[in-house]
Amino acid sequence: MIDKDQYDESKPLDMHNLQFDIAAQRLNLEPWIADKIKYARREFSVKFPLRYDDGHTELMNGYRVQHNTLRGPAKGGIRYHPNVDLDEVRALAGWMTWKCAVVNIPFGGAKGGVTCDPSTMSQKEIERLTRRYIWEISPIIGPDSDIPAPDVNTNPQIMAWIVDTYSVFKGYTCPSIVTGKPVEIGGSLGRLKSTSMGAVFTLREAAKHLNINFPDSTVVIQGFGNVGYHAAEILDKLGSKVIAVSDVKGGILNKKGLNVSKVFEYCRKTGYLVNYPESDNITNAELLELPCDILIPAALEGQITRQNAGNIKTKVIVEGANGPTSPFADEILDDKGIFVIPDILANAGGVTVSYFEWVQNVQRLFWDEGDVNQRLDQIMTKAFHEVYDLSVKEKVNMRTAAYMLAIGKVGEAKRLRGIFP
Ligand code: NAD
Repeated sequence: MIDKDQYDESKPLDMHNLQFDIAAQRLNLEPWIADKIKYARREFSVKFPLRYDDGHTELMNGYRVQHNTLRGPAKGGIRYHPNVDLDEVRALAGWMTWKCAVVNIPFGGAKGGVTCDPSTMSQKEIERLTRRYIWEISPIIGPDSDIPAPDVNTNPQIMAWIVDTYSVFKGYTCPSIVTGKPVEIGGSLGRLKSTSMGAVFTLREAAKHLNINFPDSTVVIQGFGNVGYHAAEILDKLGSKVIAVSDVKGGILNKKGLNVSKVFEYCRKTGYLVNYPESDNITNAELLELPCDILIPAALEGQITRQNAGNIKTKVIVEGANGPTSPFADEILDDKGIFVIPDILANAGGVTVSYFEWVQNVQRLFWDEGDVNQRLDQIMTKAFHEVYDLSVKEKVNMRTAAYMLAIGKVGEAKRLRGIFP
């Protein structure tokens, strides 16, 4: 029996471990295998000085955690955020392992991050931070060992600096060191929207079971960055009504539907969403509790908890973010009949197209965007149905089914590979 009281809902690593334990206990894994695959394989912490534009320097903390490499090279994004710490990076790295296994791409899981607040930094400072951080973690990353990508507050430009730094260090151009880079230097067409596109493919399959019609549906999205904005754009094009969106400063609501491209323009000009005309300002907490058909958390972990799960009024939650919902909240959502497409399935489109990008780099060829999206659709649709069928067969929710599928694959890889020496 799992003693859930041992787990702290405010800690992403505790939530990762509890999600693992809930699924692993149903699989009857050999204990040595369960232990080996639950915890991170390698953890790298670095401290390095950053020179700010005004000349002062600060010592920065950075991390790279390789959770698992049994099924292939470690893969996962880099986050720049004030809350980044080793435990958060451990949780995010674990979620990458399970995500790659759910969609069956031959990567393990990793994550990296630097504790910093990029909203207060100049582009030059962010560039210096990126180059030094990559230099610091260069002993453990590489195109065949560990391939970074974007995450919160990192973007294609930052990936371009990573390609440059690593290539200068190696002495030759090495595009396959990172994914999510600009197309001009070896990025994949379709990568920018891929996480949101993949999420919408899983939502399309779920909608068939939930009686949701895109053109009649209302959508609420928390987070208006890469994942949140593109999800809004894609669903808007499909005819859904995006009624509320938010960012770190708060949200905006228009029950008649927001004009997504105008909201994007406004956000680009002012930096934030608040005070957008033709809408009411709301808090992030209020946004999550709005009545809607589709709720997409696309910001940070720890948003839907035992405190607010009871007030959520949606038909389906599509987890664009990693770790937005705690297992305690899951129980409440299950009781309310709210269908959850869990993060390790819903947002796996990003790493899937990252895999396509890496394959194109390694083979020195390019696919067109239609090709990328068609392959993404195939992988996401197959994974959705594998998870859904298992959830029906085992009478568990979608999250536990996704974990059972993923842990089963990673556990089998460990059993086959055995122990060295
Ligand atoms: P981003 O930096 O592009 O955007 C993050 C958005 O969330 C911004 O609008 C920001 O203002 C908002 N935000 C930050 N803190 C918030 C808070 N406390 N409350 C409400 N909003 C807040 O990041 P992204 O790449 O879109 O990532 C968002 C989430 O999706 C993260 O959980 C990330 O791990 C996950 N994810 C991203 C990708 C990807 O390809 N970028 C892939 C899979 C999962």
